[in-house]
Amino acid sequence: MFEVLDAAAARVALARRALSCPDCVGALRPWGRARPRTVRDVGEGILTVRPDRARCTACKATHVVFAALLLPHRVYTVRFVGHHALVAAARGQGRRQIAAEFGAPPETVRGWVRLARCRAQELRALSIHVVASATEALPARVLG
Ligand SMILES: [Zn+2]
Repeated sequence: MFEVLDAAAARVALARRALSCPDCVGALRPWGRARPRTVRDVGEGILTVRPDRARCTACKATHVVFAALLLPHRVYTVRFVGHHALVAAARGQGRRQIAAEFGAPPETVRGWVRLARCRAQELRALSIHVVASATEALPARVLG
């Protein structure tokens, strides 16, 4: 499995064999689809997704092309966890209140909040990197 930001763009790149194998850097080619997954997204959204699979032309390994929106082995999207649970926790809401409000088990919400707190420095550094990269891509006239 490897993550991509844009699954549609990755599908095009895969068809052109422009993606490299994460194991050996050989070219990947399309190899069908993975099993369907149903995940909960923001709002009342339920998404059913079926990620692409790829096979390396060199080492023959197969990989699932996993959209970064999804969390491996989880039924909630990154948007759901971040937008609902982590923002609410940062505003001071408790896990039971968050769980009741968004319809997720309290133990699950507690796990999300604990993990985010444990990785706070990593998340902070990543956020700064994303903002800095986006700012560098903007024309100077937009920045003022
Ligand atoms: Zn390979």
